[in-house]
Amino acid sequence: MAKVEKLSSAKRFGARYGSKPKHKFAKIEKEQRKKHKCPYCNKVQVKRVAMGIWHCRKCNSKFTGKAYSISKQIAAEDQQAEESQVEKPQVEEDQQTEEKQEDIEEQQIEKQKAEKSEENLVQNG
Ligand SMILES: [Zn+2]
Repeated sequence: MAKVEKLSSAKRFGARYGSKPKHKFAKIEKEQRKKHKCPYCNKVQVKRVAMGIWHCRKCNSKFTGKAYSISKQIAAEDQQAEESQVEKPQVEEDQQTEEKQEDIEEQQIEKQKAEKSEENLVQNG
């Protein structure tokens, strides 16, 4: 069974506008209405003032963020990402990073070769 989130705030639309848009809307509005974690004092007291403007009730700081949440990822996705990271063994992650570094080094070497060949062409021409 797929997990179905409740419409909650989108119930105010009644039978109109279709199920899928309403569910998408409810997810976003739930995120924008909840209290977020303050990046300055780490208290969960940040409320949305207007689009992209957030205010912390604890330390009274007002700052910009995303339109419907403080950071790019919404909280539900954050939790999933953290869980998946925990499940992965660390050895695999290390191997992946090493491979990436090797790729980058290879690319740099190729770039250097390309630059040298260009220089040779210029000298010859
Ligand atoms: Zn704060």
